[in-house]
Amino acid sequence: MTKRVVLIGHPVAHSLSGAMHQAAFDSLGIDAAYELWDRSPIGLTDAIAELRGDDFLGANVTIPHKERVVPMVDRLTDEAHVTGAVNTLTREGKRLIGHNTDVPGFKVALDRLVGKQKMPRQAVVLGAGGGARAVVYGLITQGFQRVVVFNRHLHRAEGLVKHFGRSAAHMELRAMPWHESIIESELAKTRILVNATSIGLTTDETPIPAEALHGDLLVLDLIYARTRLLRDAVAAGATVADGELMLLHQGAAAFTLWTGQPAPLELMQTKLAEARAGGLRSAEGELTGVAADDIATPTGAVD
Ligand code: NDP
Repeated sequence: MTKRVVLIGHPVAHSLSGAMHQAAFDSLGIDAAYELWDRSPIGLTDAIAELRGDDFLGANVTIPHKERVVPMVDRLTDEAHVTGAVNTLTREGKRLIGHNTDVPGFKVALDRLVGKQKMPRQAVVLGAGGGARAVVYGLITQGFQRVVVFNRHLHRAEGLVKHFGRSAAHMELRAMPWHESIIESELAKTRILVNATSIGLTTDETPIPAEALHGDLLVLDLIYARTRLLRDAVAAGATVADGELMLLHQGAAAFTLWTGQPAPLELMQTKLAEARAGGLRSAEGELTGVAADDIATPTGAVD
């Protein structure tokens, strides 16, 4: 019986994850199919229930469901528990296990962005959704001393800060209101900027004005595309990376959880690049309506 792995999100059309995972299954002779399930929040409970069937190896969970899935599973791994967000599901009999492979994915992306430099200690994070939770946890565990989270809806950023209360007890983790002047003043004091909002995913918008960016910044956009934020940051002289490495490594970790086998990383990276060049977009970040030619190789710290 062909096993099934699904990506549950809204939207998920033409996901890049499908390209990398299907190629990985095929190359290792694993009889499995990667499917895209576009489910709005109202359809999420039924979708999760369906995954308990014997034909499923597991699932990926993406925008906007990573936090909503948490109470729907039977067990959380430490990283899913501590972040309060799930991006990967595995099945043990009828039981579903929630994992968070965005955490190791973000760590690889951050290490590559910083390169040989000393790891900075201060960061600004834009966004407070499921992806931002993996980012903030990654920054806490990397020894950051001050992390400021800005979110359109302040209460969500405050909820995130409260959630990490204990893990962040030794450092300063703050939620701040989304005002351009406050963001600009925080950016003047920081070296790391992470965009964990979905602004730029489906339009060529940027979360912050170009004038707020400066040349000492290391900017990571979780969106897997050369977003306007990244283009503005390059123009300001900053070092930038997009979400490619995070997407690749969260995917590789998920692949191993489903199959018990090491992921064919090079093949997956090639398939991601091919899908991107072909103009596909991803729930984890590819610009809609941007011609493939406009999506250049990631600039700066990403290979
Ligand atoms: P969520 O739906 O959980 O969160 C979305 C975030 O974006 C929230 O902070 C939300 O703010 C903010 N946002 C959305 N629209 C707007 C807007 N118009 N103005 C201001 N803020 C807005 O999604 P995720 O956290 O799962 O994903 C966020 C982004 O990160 C996506 O682009 C996703 O593709 C990317 N990502 C990439 C990964 C990778 O592997 N490269 C891994 C994880 C995520 P509010 O709370 O106020 O609505």
